[in-house]
Amino acid sequence: MEIKDRILIVEDDQSIINLLTAILKANSYQTMTAKTGAEAETLLASWCPDMVILDLGLPDFDGITVLKNLRSWSSMPVLVVSARTHERDKVEALDMGADDYITKPFGSSELLARIRTALRHHRAVPSGDAGAQSGIFRTGALTIDYNKHRVYVDGIDANLTLNEFRILAFLGKYAGRVITYDAIIREIWGPNMKNDNRILRVNMANIRRKIEADPTQPRYIFTEIGVGYRLADGDTAS
Ligand code: CA
Repeated sequence: MEIKDRILIVEDDQSIINLLTAILKANSYQTMTAKTGAEAETLLASWCPDMVILDLGLPDFDGITVLKNLRSWSSMPVLVVSARTHERDKVEALDMGADDYITKPFGSSELLARIRTALRHHRAVPSGDAGAQSGIFRTGALTIDYNKHRVYVDGIDANLTLNEFRILAFLGKYAGRVITYDAIIREIWGPNMKNDNRILRVNMANIRRKIEADPTQPRYIFTEIGVGYRLADGDTAS
């Protein structure tokens, strides 16, 4: 028998619940629904889902609180689905341990792609593993060689500087997922670097000039305005 991944939908808007349930069931996921934060906490502990789709605006308490409590005992993937367009909420959710977010209204293919990415990463990367990655990452004509510390486009060395390589390597480790500006800055320049996105923007502009055919129409590194960057998902799982 086929094993179906279980996804808990935490959402109080019945039309969104109906939409999510229809999309997920049509794609062979098992679902349950919690309409309040309290119901969510009960089902997270009792039903043990593989993943959570979490609305931030719940009637009893904020979705961020659900996320914070969940992260104290579980690293299961959390995809935040929110009508909120405030960048601050997205950044807070990501920094609180959400794996990704999607903004309403969303298309079913976008939703399913985010779910697949989150589940795959969760299986591929042991929780809490911040160790060095080895091997090759490929997406389109872009190749990151983690062993040689080189990046190639169409087989030609892109000549990235050390920090440019480290930024791209970090995005590659979480390809398909948005990584916040702060998370990248902490990873590359350390926790004492003042929270200034300018140095990151300058580095990113240089990386794009080297790897994108048209930096204004990026194919590899996408900007999530006010939040961070997302590298295109890899072609292979290696
Ligand atoms: Ca809501």
